Order: sequence, then C-alpha cells, then structure tokens
Amino acid sequence: MRGTDFDVVQIGYGPVGQTFAALAGKSGCKIGVYERYPALYGLPRAGHIDHEIMRILQSIGCATTVERDALRSNKYEWRNNAGQVLLDFEWNADGISGWASDYLIFQPDLESALDGIVRAEKLGQHVAPNKAVCGDECCLTQFCGVPLVVGRPARYGHDQTPCCCRDAVREY
Ligand SMILES: Cc1cc2nc3c(=O)[nH]c(=O)nc-3n(C[C@H](O)[C@H](O)[C@H](O)COP(=O)(O)OP(=O)(O)OC[C@H]3O[C@@H](n4cnc5c(N)ncnc54)[C@H](O)[C@@H]3O)c2cc1C
Repeated sequence: MRGTDFDVVQIGYGPVGQTFAALAGKSGCKIGVYERYPALYGLPRAGHIDHEIMRILQSIGCATTVERDALRSNKYEWRNNAGQVLLDFEWNADGISGWASDYLIFQPDLESALDGIVRAEKLGQHVAPNKAVCGDECCLTQFCGVPLVVGRPARYGHDQTPCCCRDAVREY
C-alpha cells in the first residue's frame, strides 16, 4: 500500500462538505476533496440558516459575503389552504451571537462563498470535481482501512486510481 495521500478524504462537496473542508483545512488537516459532479450544483435546495450557522461561517471567513446575499427573515408561518396559521415562528430578534436570528438564503450563493474560501486559501489540497469515490455502494465500514478507489463515475469511464488516507468523511 502507498503512504497516506491525505489526512482526511472528504467525499462529496455540497455545503456540508464545503464547510467541513474549510474547517478541517483551517485546522491544518491535509484534506482531499472528491465530488462526483463536474461543478457546484446550481439550484437551490436548502433555503434557511440561523445565527449559529452564521457563527460557523464567520469562523470560516465568509459570513459577511453570505449575509450580503441573504435576506434577514423576521417571521416564518405555516398556513393551511384557508389561510389559517398552523405554526408561527417569531424570528424578529438578534441571535445571542450578534447575527440576526434567521436568514433566507439562495443555496448556490452560499456554496459559492464557501467554495471561494476553500479555493482561495487552498484548504482542500485536491479539490477534484468529476471524481467519485467508488462505488455508489461504498459505506463507512469500508473506510476503516482506509484505502479508497477514486475515479470518474463508472458510467463515464474507468480511470480509477487508489488513494490512501487516515480518515474519510462521507457527506451523503
Ligand atoms: C428538491 C429538494 C428540495 C430541498 N429543499 C430543502 C429545503 O427547503 N431546506 C433544506 O434545508 N434542505 C432542503 N433540501 C435538502 C438539501 O439538499 C440539503 O439541505 C443540502 O443540499 C444538504 O447539503 P449536503 O452538503 O449535506 O448534501 P448535498 O448538497 O446533497 O451534497 C452531497 C454531495 O456529495 C456528492 N457525492 C455523493 N456521492 C458521492 C461519491 N460516491 N463520490 C463523490 N461525490 C459524491 C454529491 O454529488 C453531492 O454534491 C432539499 C433537497 C432537494 C432534493
């Protein structure tokens, strides 16, 4: 077996993986990042963050960028078809961290801010788009080795190469 390529391999590069890569990289970890898609996913899914997430983003260094693109959210209501309020969250407060308690976000903006930090500060040693950790059947117990096989998704070809790390984190 080869020596260890990375301290940690991060499998998947959505917002959680981006956050992990930034935090682990800032703590001095040599982290390899593998994402099966060629680029950041360009459509929104998650739409809300709170002040505790802003604290994490602040520690990474992108909170002001995220806040610039976010909307402070003061109220969140669930209503039924008749307009009757079912659930009512009052978010019109400052969080104890000093950030607003809640924000609405456009996920691609958040991902772009996180990815910007990871790349600008070279926190991911090897941010590899279009590389899947094979195969889709991989599960955490297989990481206890931790030799991984990294390659383009099998349906696109078979350029798979081994990669060795001390730990692996899978985000999906
Ligand atoms: C239609 C839809 C609506 C949603 N609405 C909301 C919402 O309103 N609010 C909310 O909070 N959340 C919502 N979600 C959930 C949303 O996807 C998550 O909140 C957020 O994207 C999770 O981030 P993540 O980083 O954990 O995972 P993901 O964004 O899913 O990222 C995981 C990454 O891992 C990659 N990956 C997976 N397997 C491999 C492999 N073997 N090798 C390499 N890379 C791999 C994937 O390509 C992906 O990029 C929604 C999801 C969907 C599909």
